[in-house]
Amino acid sequence: MKIKMVGTGSMISKRNPASYMINDKVMIDMPNGVVKILKNANLFDNVEYLFITHIHGDHIFDLPFLFLERYKSNRELTVILSRRWLRKIKKLVKLAFPREFYNIFYRSKIKFISNKGCHIIDDLHIERIKVDHGAMKPSFGYIVKEKDKTVTFTGDSALCSSVLESAKISDYLICDCTLSKGNHKHMGVDNIKYLLEENPTLKVVPSHTSINSKNSLLELKYDNLIIKEDMEEIIL
Ligand SMILES: [Zn+2]
Repeated sequence: MKIKMVGTGSMISKRNPASYMINDKVMIDMPNGVVKILKNANLFDNVEYLFITHIHGDHIFDLPFLFLERYKSNRELTVILSRRWLRKIKKLVKLAFPREFYNIFYRSKIKFISNKGCHIIDDLHIERIKVDHGAMKPSFGYIVKEKDKTVTFTGDSALCSSVLESAKISDYLICDCTLSKGNHKHMGVDNIKYLLEENPTLKVVPSHTSINSKNSLLELKYDNLIIKEDMEEIIL
């Protein structure tokens, strides 16, 4: 499995907004600015599948631009999401491009499917987990399996039971570390230390980091802590 850490930053950091590309074709989240980032890396046309974790702006605000380009180029795109978000996503696209709204939703090759169940894309098996992200309900992470390797993406999440359970079955945990001290919305550096110590064989890759949490993470000394910069890759 190849994971490109397209963005590792939270909204207030200077780094790219948190988003990931798996095996050069599957994206997780489409935050503000990511369409241009992907274009500059010659990866924009590669995106065939998009899994959405939740509908905060720093996870979906480039959807209108992605959709408009996929409509114009007549390329296929499958968006995997909670169907409860569709009405709001349609509103967002209508606000951005009122004249192209109908074409984007009814005359393009963009498909919207529920994130329930297991999604098989080549050798990848992808399933959602429900996570706790304050008032934003529902919010999801995704467990991605390829052969004998398992990677969990928490999305934005507190240290909740589904994150703790998936940490035990994963090789890599790519997780929220927005804060210095975790709360009911986001994980913090304290939660990362707990995960590292409780799961010595798990590789923990903090993401969605702020300037403060990133600086604290850089001072930690754990063999299983993996710090990645924007556009770096994990191969497993
Ligand atoms: Zn969020």
